[in-house]
Amino acid sequence: MTGARILDGKAIAETIKQEVRHELSAAPDRPVLAILSFQNPQNPSSEAYLRAQERMAQSLGIDVRPRLLSWNDDQRAVEHLIKEWNQIKQIHGIFVHQPMPPKVDPQHVSAIIDPRKDIEGIHPQNMARRFFARGRIGSCTALAVMRLIEETGVELAGKEAVVVGHSEIVGRPVSMLLLDKLATTTVCHVGTDRAGRLEEHVRRADVLVVAVGRPRFIQGAWIKPGAIVIDVGINVDGGKVVGDVEFEEARKRASYITPVPGGVGPVTVMMVMKNTVEAFKLQQHG
Ligand code: NAP
Repeated sequence: MTGARILDGKAIAETIKQEVRHELSAAPDRPVLAILSFQNPQNPSSEAYLRAQERMAQSLGIDVRPRLLSWNDDQRAVEHLIKEWNQIKQIHGIFVHQPMPPKVDPQHVSAIIDPRKDIEGIHPQNMARRFFARGRIGSCTALAVMRLIEETGVELAGKEAVVVGHSEIVGRPVSMLLLDKLATTTVCHVGTDRAGRLEEHVRRADVLVVAVGRPRFIQGAWIKPGAIVIDVGINVDGGKVVGDVEFEEARKRASYITPVPGGVGPVTVMMVMKNTVEAFKLQQHG
C-alpha cells in the first residue's frame, strides 16, 4: 500500500472561496458579518486574528463590523451588543470568538443570537433543525468535515461511520450529518474509552471522525485498511501542532486522511463565510 491520499484542506478552502466569490459577484447587495472578539491576555494575537478574518471576508465580498471587547467585560456587555446587532437589519451574520472571558457564559451567548444570524450554527433552534434534517445553517466544523468526506467521492450509504467525541459543536452535529447520508453511525465518548471499547469501534470504521482534543490519541494501528480518516483535533505537543490521530501510522493504512494543520481547520474558516452567505440569502428571500 502506498499510503493514504491527503485531503488538502487549504486547496478545498480555496475552491469554496471561489464559489462564495462567484455567488456574491451576482448579488445586488453585500452581506454584512458582525464579529465580536476579546482582548485575551493569554492570547495577544486575538486582535490580529480578528483583522485577518476581516480582510478575508472583505476579499470575498462580505462587509465586516468588527468589535473588540476587553477580557474584563461581562455577560451584560456581550448581551447588550448582540441584542443590538440582532435588531440591525443590515447585519446578516454574527460570529463570536472563543474562548470568551470568564464572566461570559458561551452557551447563553449562543442562545441569544438571532437564529437567522447564527452563522456558526450553534443556536439551539439551528441545532434542533439539524436533528430533523431540515437545517440550512449548520455547525461550521461539522459542515467542513462533511465537505472533506465529499471530496473523496465515496458513497456514505451503508458505510460504518465512527465519530469519537460528542461535543455540541463537532461530534453531535457531525453524527447527524452522517446519519442524513445513511451511514451506520456510532458515536464514541469518554464512556466508550472507560469501558475499554474505543479500539474495537475505531477498528471497524470505514469513515472515522475524531474530535477529542488529545494529541495522537487514536493509534495508527487501529485504523481499518482503506478507511477515510478526518482528524478535527488541534493540539500543541512538544511545540508542534498535531491532531488527535497518530498521523504517520494512520496514513499507512487509510485511503484518505486529513493533515493537522491544513485539514479541517482551513475548511471550517471558509464555512463561516459560506454560512454568512446562506444567512444573507435567508434574510433577503426567506
Ligand atoms: P470538547 O468540547 O472538549 O469535546 C471533546 C469530546 O471528546 C467530548 O465529547 C469528550 O467526551 C470526548 N472525550 C474526552 N476524552 C475522551 C476519551 N478518553 N475517549 C473518548 N472521548 C473522549 O472539544 P471540541 O470542541 O469538540 O473539539 C475537539 C478538538 O477539535 C479540539 O482539539 C479542538 O481544538 C478541535 N477543533 C478543531 C476545529 C477545526 O476547525 N479544526 C474546530 C473545533 C474544534 P465527554 O464530554 O464525555 O468527556
